Amino acid sequence: MKVGVIGLGAMGTGMARNLAKAGFLSGVYNRTSAKADDLANELAITAYATISDLAAHVELIISCVSADADVLEVVDAIANSGNANLIVVDTSTVSRQTAQQAAKLLAEHKIGFLDAPVSGGVEGANKGTLAMMVGGEIAILDQVRPALEAISARILHLGEHGAGQACKAVNQIMAAGINQAVCEALAFADAQNLDLAKVIEVVSGGAAGNWFLQHRGQTMSQDQFNPGFKLALHHKDLLICQQMAQQAEIPSPLTDTTLADYAQLMQQGHGNEDISALFRLKRKTPPRGTQ
Ligand code: NAP
Repeated sequence: MKVGVIGLGAMGTGMARNLAKAGFLSGVYNRTSAKADDLANELAITAYATISDLAAHVELIISCVSADADVLEVVDAIANSGNANLIVVDTSTVSRQTAQQAAKLLAEHKIGFLDAPVSGGVEGANKGTLAMMVGGEIAILDQVRPALEAISARILHLGEHGAGQACKAVNQIMAAGINQAVCEALAFADAQNLDLAKVIEVVSGGAAGNWFLQHRGQTMSQDQFNPGFKLALHHKDLLICQQMAQQAEIPSPLTDTTLADYAQLMQQGHGNEDISALFRLKRKTPPRGTQ
C-alpha cells in the first residue's frame, strides 16, 4: 500500500519516518515546501508540490495538520484531486463535527475516511508508539491497519465518524487536569525548598507517577518549554471540549480554568511553547539566575 503524509510538523514528521522504515511511505506534502524537500531527501521518497499531485500517486493519505479549518482545506483539495481509489486517515485533533463534515465531503467523491486522532506526544510519534482513536467504518480500518501499525502501538475503533475525535476530547480534558496537577504540585515542591529533580524521580515511581511528570517534569523545572505539544494547540482542543461539555450540559471546571490560564500565557507570548509552560503561572519564584 502506497502511503502519503500531509503535514510534516512535530507529529507528522515522526509518523512519516516510521512509515518509511516499514516500507509504506511513497511521498509527502507540506505547506512550507522546504520541510517536505528535506524529509524527502532524507528518506529517498517524493516531495509533491501540491496535495492533488500527492493524492494522484498514493492509495492512503495520513494527514496531521493544525486545526479544523486546515483539515477541511486539505480534505477539499484531496476530494478535488480526481483519485477515487483513496483512503484518508486524519490524525489531527479537531471537532467531532469537522470529522463528520470531512467524511461526508470525501464520500461524495467515493473516497474513504477515518478520523484517527492520536495521543503519545512527539515522543510517541518518533517511536511509532502512538495511541490511536478511530471513528469510521471498521472495514476501512481493517484495510489500512497494517500501515497504521507502523505509527501506533494501540489502535482502537470507537464508533462511527467523529467518535475518534470525541475520545480525543476525553484525552485532552485529562491532559489538562494532569498538566494542572503536575504544575501546581511542582510549584508547591519548589516553595518547600525541595530538590525538584529528586521529587520528580521519587514521585514518578509511586502512585502519582504519570507520563507528563516523567517526560516534562525535568524540563519545566529547568525553565525549558520547547514543544512538545504547543500550548496554543491544546487551547484549540479545550475550546472544542468546552463546547461539547456545554452541549452535554455537564460542568467542565478543569477545562474552563486551563483555558483561562492558557489565554493568559498566550497573551504573554507563550503560545508556541510546550503546555508545561503552565508552570510559569504556578511557581512562586522566578527560575534561578533570573532574579
Ligand atoms: P505543528 O508542529 O504546528 O505542525 C502543524 C503542521 O500542519 C505543519 O506541517 C503545517 O505546515 C501543517 N498545516 C497547518 N495548516 C495547514 C493547512 N491549512 N494546509 C496544509 N498544511 C497545514 O503541530 P503538531 O504538534 O504536529 O500537531 C498537529 C496536529 O496533531 C494538531 O491537530 C495537534 O493538536 C495534534 N496533536 C499534537 C500532539 C503533540 O504532542 N504535538 C499530540 C497529539 C496530537 P507548515 O509547516 O507550513 O506550518
